[in-house]
Amino acid sequence: MYSKILVAVDESETSRHALQQAIDLAKKLSASVRMVHVLDMSWLPIGPEVAIDTEAMSAARRGVGENTIAAARGTAKAAGFEAEAVLIETETPMQQVAETIVKEAARWGADLVVMGTHGRRGFQHLMLGSVAEQTVRRSSGPVLLIPLPKAT
Ligand code: AMP
Repeated sequence: MYSKILVAVDESETSRHALQQAIDLAKKLSASVRMVHVLDMSWLPIGPEVAIDTEAMSAARRGVGENTIAAARGTAKAAGFEAEAVLIETETPMQQVAETIVKEAARWGADLVVMGTHGRRGFQHLMLGSVAEQTVRRSSGPVLLIPLPKAT
């Protein structure tokens, strides 16, 4: 069955829940897990005509990403599970987060990608968030989308 599970994590509660589910699954399957957060640098303005401190902005974004990875490590540790955790950046100004996730999954040889149906941007009225939808569209392998359980 699945032996290498890549979990795409952001700062949302849905993502945290998806990670917990992925860890439960990995324990049952004796699979390894790689937790990945993508720093989206595509929004950084390019060109000298833009008079803002892009260094400071990217450092701030990197700080948030490092916290996200630390939180994912904490979730795995609390579950008594050893998992790799990596922070990666979009490679070009045009590259999307989903494209980066799919590339990383292929590079690592993941046979399953797990992620939340929604993320930190919180467009809960949409059936799927854009990173989730784009990952499903771009991936040639299975993608398991986990929603946050509905409050009863
Ligand atoms: P979204 O499509 O942005 O609503 O997010 C859906 C899911 O995609 C989240 O629950 C995360 O599992 C994953 N995700 C969103 N943004 C990122 C990111 N920057 N890096 C890795 N995974 C992400």
